[in-house]
Amino acid sequence: MRWVTVATEDGPRACMVDQGEYVDINAADPLLPSSVRELLELGGEGIQRARAALSRGIVRHDPADVRVLAPVPDPQKVICVGLNYKDHAAESGVPAPDEPVLFSKFPSALIGHGESIVLPAASKEVDYEAELVVVIGRRGRHIPRNRALEYVGGYAVGHDVSARDWQMNKPGKQWMAGKTFDTFAPVGPELVTPDEVGDPHNLGIRLRLNGETMQDSNTNQLIFGVDVLIEYMSKVFTLEAGDLIFTGTPPGVGMARKPPVWLKPGDVVEVEIDRLGTLRNPVVAETGA
Ligand code: MN
Repeated sequence: MRWVTVATEDGPRACMVDQGEYVDINAADPLLPSSVRELLELGGEGIQRARAALSRGIVRHDPADVRVLAPVPDPQKVICVGLNYKDHAAESGVPAPDEPVLFSKFPSALIGHGESIVLPAASKEVDYEAELVVVIGRRGRHIPRNRALEYVGGYAVGHDVSARDWQMNKPGKQWMAGKTFDTFAPVGPELVTPDEVGDPHNLGIRLRLNGETMQDSNTNQLIFGVDVLIEYMSKVFTLEAGDLIFTGTPPGVGMARKPPVWLKPGDVVEVEIDRLGTLRNPVVAETGA
């Protein structure tokens, strides 16, 4: 099953992807919520009910005619993992960590497929990072590794846009500030449920900048897999349905190139992950700053 969140005059609306169209699931069954996060909270019961409502779907959108938001536009948390591909740690000039490196973005950084990445006036070194995003499906704390995948509600394509001059060169190394400028967390187009993804640790992941392949790897290169990350994070905080985990990026980022490659106005970035789709975002300059 695939979920999208569509922007409408009435606000964000959860839709199920059905035969190439987006079906408004709350319009099909008013007892179901209109947000993907709240649908995830209902668990398997919600999914069954949503499937049953599909045939009654009266509000259908043509994907060509609507604007999509991030599939979960209102998560409680956006957690990120740094240096989670061995080759990327090497190109960054640091040893592969022996425990996950966590940081975060604010949910206000989220944008959807097709929306613009805004280059902030405050940064001159904005970089790209292709990432697999895990969407948590139910609340949990102290989740053991062998049950961790039961807590996954789905997967999506993500892009961890990164202002390197903030991340690396500010006092104290401002990882979070450098990663959470508005629009620095594109996700989408869809949330894909685990039954359609299979093994999350064997997915091709690629990033194209203006059509040129800049990153080309596979999630089988992850140092810490999805189950390890969920176990590790849930030792620290409660994971909630709808929480997003950016799992790290493979080699090929702009910072590691000679000369370095930074995003500029007019660029188009595409991140593609097997079975999940392609997330495309144009790049524009900030105005009015
Ligand atoms: Mn990253």
